[in-house]
Amino acid sequence: MTRDPRFDLLFEPVRIGPKTARNRFFQVPHCTGMGRWWPTPSAVSRGIKAEGGWAVVCTEQCDIHPTGNVLRQVRLWDEQDIPPLARTAERIHAHGSLAGIELVHNGYKMANFESREIPFAPSARPVYGILPVTARAMDKSDIRAVRRWHRQAALNARKAGFDIVYVYAGHDLALPMHFLARRHNHRTDEYGGSLENRARLLRELIEDTHEAVGDTCAVALRIAVDELLGTDGITSGGEGREVVEMLAELPDLWDVNISAWENDSLTARFGDEGFQERYTGFVKSLTTKPVVGVGRYTSPDRMVDLVRKKVLDFIGAARPSIADPFLPKKIEEGRPEDIRECIGCNICVSGNNLAHPMRCTQNPTMSEEWRRDWHPERLPARTRDEKILVVGAGPAGLEAARALGQRGYRVSLAEAGRNLGGRVGREARLPGLATWGRVQDWRVGQLGKLPNVEIYRESRLTADDVLAAECTVVAIATGARWRADGVGRHHSFPLAGLDRMPVMTPDDVMDDAALPRGPVVVYDDDHYYMGGVIAEKLRRARLAVTLVTPESMVSAFTQYTLEQARIQARLIELGVTILTATELVGLHAGEAEIACAYTGRTRRIAAAAAVLVTMQTPDDALFHDLAARGDALSAVGIRKLVRIGDALAPGIIAAAVWSGHRFARELDLPESDAVGFRRENVALAAI
Ligand code: ADP
Ligand code: SF4
Repeated sequence: MTRDPRFDLLFEPVRIGPKTARNRFFQVPHCTGMGRWWPTPSAVSRGIKAEGGWAVVCTEQCDIHPTGNVLRQVRLWDEQDIPPLARTAERIHAHGSLAGIELVHNGYKMANFESREIPFAPSARPVYGILPVTARAMDKSDIRAVRRWHRQAALNARKAGFDIVYVYAGHDLALPMHFLARRHNHRTDEYGGSLENRARLLRELIEDTHEAVGDTCAVALRIAVDELLGTDGITSGGEGREVVEMLAELPDLWDVNISAWENDSLTARFGDEGFQERYTGFVKSLTTKPVVGVGRYTSPDRMVDLVRKKVLDFIGAARPSIADPFLPKKIEEGRPEDIRECIGCNICVSGNNLAHPMRCTQNPTMSEEWRRDWHPERLPARTRDEKILVVGAGPAGLEAARALGQRGYRVSLAEAGRNLGGRVGREARLPGLATWGRVQDWRVGQLGKLPNVEIYRESRLTADDVLAAECTVVAIATGARWRADGVGRHHSFPLAGLDRMPVMTPDDVMDDAALPRGPVVVYDDDHYYMGGVIAEKLRRARLAVTLVTPESMVSAFTQYTLEQARIQARLIELGVTILTATELVGLHAGEAEIACAYTGRTRRIAAAAAVLVTMQTPDDALFHDLAARGDALSAVGIRKLVRIGDALAPGIIAAAVWSGHRFARELDLPESDAVGFRRENVALAAI
């Protein structure tokens, strides 16, 4: 197939200083959770993006010195750090793309626990977060040193093979931005005071980088033009705009966004595709240099529009390139319907924040490209003729059927309900989660192209049905249900008084069960999105809602997906009563008994009903029925019976998709006790 001519514009080459990008698709710097600890998996993953058609592929932030010690990400302190980065650049070049590197000094954002160097900042202040460390004020020799280190890092970046060297002043993560921001910079010398003074270090770093490597490398500036802090911060109507005016022609490329990271990487629950445009859209009118910006863009029509309307020259992407590394190729090959669209959930971000290789809800191959040899687009052809029955069309069953079908196996997918999608279809109807439906939409679309996959809707199978299905392998993907007895993290035994009050679960609320009339207590002992989203839904239905959680904040896990503050703010704004550090300990007629999580002291609050969001339990009766049939399975030719997804162990959607994918990939591998993936061990130094 060939591409639709209306997308030709996206495939024009664009010059960036001394380099030329082959098209307008630009993977902006983003972390992967792999950084310096998993160099080869990280390099291979970046290379896959280049193979998928991104003309520019960047690293995450790369720290340049022990005084700005970013533990989890790549580093370039001196020549010793070149080899892993060179491997990344090589993999990117192998597919004809440009390699970009985002040099950073993190200033007050880091406590430097590895190097034990005292962090520094334009003016003295505590480091970010709650760590008991104070960053000292920089003197002139520190400023000169930062310039020297940055320049040396640029030279080493060129040695490593990079084409684009970034000066980073974004996300409140980088020293030049700390100098820019009035609230961080209280200096009275020529680096403080007026905007021109506060922008001095930024200007110097751009000039230094040009001078060091600008003859052969492009110099990019990544900058936040708004912080969503009003006049306390940089604003796109004020100093954000003035800085762009001031430095308009200095960098070879403007990479513009908003700060901090939780604003820029807003989840779909809190912002639509392209919501940044209203802040960043002005930049292109002030410079002749190319501009890149992000917006969780997945629609090629929208991308063309952005270029036509002179908002952007490059379509920047972090998350859409994670969810589908082959997004550009799919447009180029005239099959945009194959794009696996990012759902905006930020499970990827949680990988960085929890310091593990990144996972993606939509793309189960993320971080597995090298260690398991999972290519996002290529699946190995089937090794024998099998007929596989997948029972349940939630994310696990859909992904298993899709991947097995693409491998060439004969697959039957049976679903009890009329709709495919399982939990995803139901959760997508909760407030703010509509984009989650993309998990099912993409898979259902792909299944429609596979003549070797048959789908049976409204087919609730029994063990006898399975035995009669004439298949050789059975995968049970029947999902899970929320418990209705309060058992979970804090309660190992059912709650007292379950018969004294109507009790509901998230499943009941999602299935539109009749809601109670009086006040409702939502007990969240799950701590991801469900408790908060159920409280939101009930409150929007005009019920009086009290959210009770033993944690010290609402939806505590969402700190890692950058959503927590917004979730809590939304619930407060909606008028949900929030009781943190509180356990639900018993139910009475018209009252819920709650206890302080620290002292155990109890009291009662009015409640007509309780929604218990504690844990899910596998819906695995069919699996056990079948497993109990023993020899009857082999007698009908079934050689393998497995559980996948939530039917095996309930978890997040990403885990269910991954489980289905793994089953499809490993179906024909022999059982083995060997570790199932490659590891990259450190080479021991001589002592
Ligand atoms: P997962 O997240 O593991 O994919 P879900 O709960 O999303 O699990 O999906 C499970 C799906 O399995 C649901 O759509 C449910 O209707 C279906 N299902 C459950 N039991 C049966 C059964 N016996 N036969 C067919 N489908 C079933
Ligand atoms: Fe998008 Fe979620 Fe994947 Fe991140 S994890 S890339 S937000 S689908």
